[in-house]
Amino acid sequence: AVVVHRKMKKSGRWVKAMEIVKEFEEKCGTPIGKLRQVADAMTVEMHAGLASEGGSKLKMLITYVDNLPTGNEKGLFYALDLGGTNFRVLRVQLGGKERGIINQQFEEVSIPPSLMTGTSDALFDYIAAELAKFVAEEGPDFQLAPGRQRELGFTFSFPVMQTSIASGTLLRWTKGFSIDETVNDTVGTLAGGRYTNNDVAAAVILGTGSNAAYVERAHAIPKWHGLLPKSGEMVINMEWGNFRSSHLPLTEYDHALDAESLNPGEQIYEKVISGMYLGEIVRRVLCRMSEEAAFFGDTVPPKLKVPFVLRTPVMSAMHQDTSPDLKVVANKLKDILEISNTSLKTRKVIVELCNIVATRGARLSAAGILGILKKMGRDTLKEGERQRTVIAMDGGLYEHYSEYRKCLENTLNEMLGDEVAGTIVVEHSNDGSGIGAALLAASHSQYLEVEE
Ligand code: BGC
Ligand code: MG
Repeated sequence: AVVVHRKMKKSGRWVKAMEIVKEFEEKCGTPIGKLRQVADAMTVEMHAGLASEGGSKLKMLITYVDNLPTGNEKGLFYALDLGGTNFRVLRVQLGGKERGIINQQFEEVSIPPSLMTGTSDALFDYIAAELAKFVAEEGPDFQLAPGRQRELGFTFSFPVMQTSIASGTLLRWTKGFSIDETVNDTVGTLAGGRYTNNDVAAAVILGTGSNAAYVERAHAIPKWHGLLPKSGEMVINMEWGNFRSSHLPLTEYDHALDAESLNPGEQIYEKVISGMYLGEIVRRVLCRMSEEAAFFGDTVPPKLKVPFVLRTPVMSAMHQDTSPDLKVVANKLKDILEISNTSLKTRKVIVELCNIVATRGARLSAAGILGILKKMGRDTLKEGERQRTVIAMDGGLYEHYSEYRKCLENTLNEMLGDEVAGTIVVEHSNDGSGIGAALLAASHSQYLEVEE
């Protein structure tokens, strides 16, 4: 009788756990109809953000980048690419249309943890010193035209950094430099993509965070009161991570994650699609299954309670485990969460959870891209026209999480339909933002010496 009782108890727990999974899956649902609503909402918010400052959750920042590299640029240019935990310095020697990028060199420097929480002065002093070292090592393969100063493009992946940079701190550590551009990493990626491919019209980053930039017609930006640029175009940094809509399928786990985050109420779209959060969402569901359905046995594994222990690269490895006994899942559970002796059945459920979270994220980001294509009028084919549109993509999530990437691409194709899908290309622009910043320094050079 005791044995029977224990078995029933066990199966009761399993039933409860499966209920939690099922409910989660339903709430995460992204049928095409819903995705179309998300895409439409994105387009609507883009209009609103362009109409007036603060008109939308989408900031739709005017970047002052009104021309993108053409390939004609010549000379020596530097760039500084400031990310989360490291930065890159690079230099390129540009040889114009014929010769393109003649030489390039870069160096990656990690930021000492103590500086990440210190003052911005200390951080920038450090960066400046590293940059100076790099410049001092400039070899004979790189040639600065006589009478010129070195020009530097600066790209960074946090909008919050922008305030301190705009405050003038930058000027101090730029001795010997004239800073041409401080651009968001999406803008750098857009420029890097455009240099080699004239059809690049937008850039999307899916990494730790997420964002998009695209080329807008200047007269379609009501909040822009400056002169119309000669090109008639302006790059817009959407800061799309802050998009939100009642059409987004959000669950209790998302709400809790947001409430306990460093920026509650902000970056809601980013919190369902980007690399920083996907693993954490899975962890939260597992935690509840463990607490309410004893999914991992009588006690909740202590590690499972630690926010952000389950990082997205680990989730991706588990999700894409192809071994028949899900060995990778077993190992990750053991190494990361200190959970051992899981059954195959349990591990399969974990893979399914990863799939639910990644699928929702990938499909919602596809919907966001469709929203941009709609705003640009590239989601339908005009009579007799077959203009190609290339979206430059970068970011670790896109690059390394192939299930996510495949799902995004399939969803975009599905929503566009075969004919239009044939004109839209998503292209990986590997580390395009650093090169892009150097190219922007070139295309906005104060010396304006380009090959006509
Ligand atoms: C930031 C953007 C950035 C994106 C990708 C987001 O968290 O808000 O400015 O472009 O991450 O790095
Ligand atoms: Mg980057």
